[in-house]
Amino acid sequence: MDVNLSLNINHVLGDIRQAAARSGRDAAEIGIVAVTKTVPAENVREAVSAGLRILGENRVQELIAKYPLVEGAEWHLIGHLQRNKVKYITDKVSLIHSLDSAALAEEIDRRMNSMGRIMDVLVQVNIAEDPKKHGIKANQVIDFVEAAAQLQGIRIKGLMTIGPYVSDPGEIRPVFRELRKLAENVKKMDLPGVDMRHLSMGMSNDYIVAIEEGATLVRIGSAIFGTRK
Ligand SMILES: *Cc1c(COP(=O)(O)O)cnc(C)c1O
Repeated sequence: MDVNLSLNINHVLGDIRQAAARSGRDAAEIGIVAVTKTVPAENVREAVSAGLRILGENRVQELIAKYPLVEGAEWHLIGHLQRNKVKYITDKVSLIHSLDSAALAEEIDRRMNSMGRIMDVLVQVNIAEDPKKHGIKANQVIDFVEAAAQLQGIRIKGLMTIGPYVSDPGEIRPVFRELRKLAENVKKMDLPGVDMRHLSMGMSNDYIVAIEEGATLVRIGSAIFGTRK
């Protein structure tokens, strides 16, 4: 890959600092999840050496393959997780961004209980109700969180969304704003075991807008590693 990783990372860090300053936020509260799908382990290691500490994969198989080859970072699962694959990742990831069904919540809970551990999760919300995307509908989030909060093996840490593809990043602002409002509404319920600290939103195309709207985790692939083939 003919990509200058540290240049790209510095560019992203600069954008984050500026977007945070513009919106009166502390840039230190915004984490970069470096999205490594299709990126060879060698380049992932380079990104970790350059200072990135959170890696995100959207496929279980790719995560499992790279996991033993990369040290010094934590892994997040950011893509749709099938129930029968939960068992492969419970000991590898520190956060699952893509909790999108009650059945998945129950399976993660079951696996974590048997290990005597707890998994941090974000509830994926399909704000735009895109039929091609996974996620809980906005008007079902409150009920979903209330039910999932009963499970001892998972801890809800916030919400995640994937914005629709738009040519003008400004068009995406209402989507991110709605996710933040939803998170505020959940927070007001003050449910035991629910800690709404994270808003995972924003990718290479739209992370600046996402930060202006309150993102605490931005999931960035191509702006760091170059365009995927
Ligand atoms: C691929 C992917 C990203 C990163 O996409 P880029 O446009 O390359 O930044 C973020 N989130 C999810 C869920 C993804 O699958």
